Amino acid sequence: MGEFELIERYFKRPERHAARVALGIGDDCALLQPAPGTQLAISCDMLVEGRHFVSTLDPFKLGHKALAVNLSDLAACGARPLAFSLALALPRADESWLAPFAQGLLALADAHSCELIGGDTTQGPLNICITVFGEVPVMAGRSQALLRSGAQAGDDLYISGNLGDARLALEVFRGTVSVPEAVFTAARVRLETPTPRVALGLALRGVANAAIDVSDGLLGDLGHILQQSGVGATVDADVATSLIAAHAYYTGATGQFDTNIAPEQWRRWALSGGDDYELLFTAPVARREAVAAAAAASLTPVTRIGQIEAERGLRLMDAQRQPVPDRYASFDHFA
Ligand code: ADP
Ligand code: MG
Repeated sequence: MGEFELIERYFKRPERHAARVALGIGDDCALLQPAPGTQLAISCDMLVEGRHFVSTLDPFKLGHKALAVNLSDLAACGARPLAFSLALALPRADESWLAPFAQGLLALADAHSCELIGGDTTQGPLNICITVFGEVPVMAGRSQALLRSGAQAGDDLYISGNLGDARLALEVFRGTVSVPEAVFTAARVRLETPTPRVALGLALRGVANAAIDVSDGLLGDLGHILQQSGVGATVDADVATSLIAAHAYYTGATGQFDTNIAPEQWRRWALSGGDDYELLFTAPVARREAVAAAAAASLTPVTRIGQIEAERGLRLMDAQRQPVPDRYASFDHFA
């Protein structure tokens, strides 16, 4: 199977969204037609074998994850997905890999009405690079995009969904901890097929002051909001830790599995675990009802985990309001 046959067979499909994709796969460029009065939101993420995933990962799940991490960036900006391009380096044209990869990728694309409009295909070590294009309205000359730089002193700080379960699953894979099969199965879904919070991001337009998606760990990604907004924050470490779904299982009446996971370990996974793909955002105290409405409308749980403050820096508290030392470094590829 040659390069062009491969593209034809696995990635080219009849166009679905002709209104915004004026020209899809097949020419030198694709042509996108954003709606009048909108801006294009653009983001690119690369997944490298051995670095972001292991070679044994099910290709269907890998296809899902490659697009999910990109859609998560659109969600963080409050952008509606339009289209994406796919640059793929493959060691060989292996159909038993390509078919499920394309299925996982395109199933998530269809779920978000995001059309594959082009890309590049070459031979080489497995590497998947996706660029997504989304749409954000401009109202009265003002972009409605959610930015990292918009947090205000006094804002509430919120996180969607769960934290730390992806990291728990990674540690089980690495063999550093063991948990019951049911707990691992649930955590593994979070690591391998994360849910981009696109609907929540859209619902938070005009409500949130600032947002980011958590990919490298809660505190590290919060640091980007604080730095770009010129503010500080206090975070409740125990509330954040309670958002580990596996931890809730353990602390529930039935849970009995913990022999090898220390409380500090749980806290570390919640605060700096990484690969969560949840939305971390701030909103004025006066908008608490609007935040609850956005969470309900998008069927996405949201938890208040702290406050934004004028005093710079990050302060961690426990449930007794006692300070917790911050030793929760985030992931950094070159650190
Ligand atoms: P060029 O050499 O002009 O860059 P190519 O021959 O590489 O174009 O690609 C032919 C067409 O197939 C282009 O429209 C390109 O966007 C598309 N394409 C290439 N690889 C992929 C891929 N992995 N997924 C989707 N479209 C692709
Ligand atoms: Mg090319």
